[in-house]
Amino acid sequence: MRQTVLINGKTDILSMTLPELEETLESMGEKKFRARQIYEWLHVKQVVDFSSMTNLSAQLRARLDEFFCINSLFIAKRLASCTDNTLKYLYRLYDGEHVESVLMEYEHGNTLCISTQVGCKMGCSFCASTKAGFCRDLLPSEMLMQIYTAQRDSGRKISGVVLMGIGEPLDNYDNVVRFFELVSSPEGMNISLRHVSLSTCGLVPKIYELAKLKLGITLSVSLHSADNESRSSIMPVNNKYDIYELVTACRDYFKATGRRVSFEYAVIEGVNDSYEDAKKLAALLDGMMCHVNLIPVNKIDERDYRSSRRSTMRFKETLEKLKMNVTVRRTLGADINAACGQLRRQYGI
Ligand code: SAH
Repeated sequence: MRQTVLINGKTDILSMTLPELEETLESMGEKKFRARQIYEWLHVKQVVDFSSMTNLSAQLRARLDEFFCINSLFIAKRLASCTDNTLKYLYRLYDGEHVESVLMEYEHGNTLCISTQVGCKMGCSFCASTKAGFCRDLLPSEMLMQIYTAQRDSGRKISGVVLMGIGEPLDNYDNVVRFFELVSSPEGMNISLRHVSLSTCGLVPKIYELAKLKLGITLSVSLHSADNESRSSIMPVNNKYDIYELVTACRDYFKATGRRVSFEYAVIEGVNDSYEDAKKLAALLDGMMCHVNLIPVNKIDERDYRSSRRSTMRFKETLEKLKMNVTVRRTLGADINAACGQLRRQYGI
């Protein structure tokens, strides 16, 4: 069992798996089946206080309240897009920190993009999430609560999750893997891990570790460039794990899991969108079962990076001629700063 996390002196019950909860309740002298009831209140009915757990005795509810805490999030800001059904949430955490989630509507259902850390250490030059530095990792409960709170507030059933918000998920590996276990638990939210994607800037050793777990999640890799020199100039992580080590790890991920890797490529005019860049990208990913997702780069205050639909489409056509499997990401919620980290920055937090 993992070390218990205390929040304001109480155990973070939402981060506990069902077997852990069973063991803990038994050690408190309670019946084991109570754990299942509590787990259902937390993860299916998604209540935020013990007093709502009406099939438990008042005495047990009081005991739970004494030892455990349900780590709730407070909606500090909610923005609704006028152009599509995208909703963006700014959440305040128990310690006053803030993170963001974006709820997107697709034909196949609602997907929530969640944050995994408060801030980020990775320092990518185009990304708003990293500008104010790193503050702390999110707990599994805080990743789950982003989903439960958005679902409750919006009234929409969430069936997919992408770890593409603030933070580097593989830099918070243990909590993220525990989150996967909780979110896919049949007694809980029961989201199939086939509907979950994790986006990483390329922490190579953790990609190998994740591959070994064979969880069925989709790995998205933020590539953004096809050669070491230009990638290092926009993504400092490339100095530690270079592009060839990264692509080798991705080939291993496919071999181990059978899941096609997706490469994210933010098209930045004059930086990574030339014909030469397209040729390098095709050569780098040659023979690999993968998919390239182009994103017109979102402008952030700190940099003068630009992208247009036209330059992105031109880059896409070039890649297609080179027989690449490529799509352009739909821009959802463009009017509400839906790209990660932008809202938190705007509020100076
Ligand atoms: N740390 C993870 C996940 C968070 S970022 C990662 O690096 O993948 C989620 C995605 O948004 C990444 O692909 C990231 O590179 C991209 N991104 C960040 N800032 C962007 C911007 N200004 N324009 C376009 N994409 C951006």
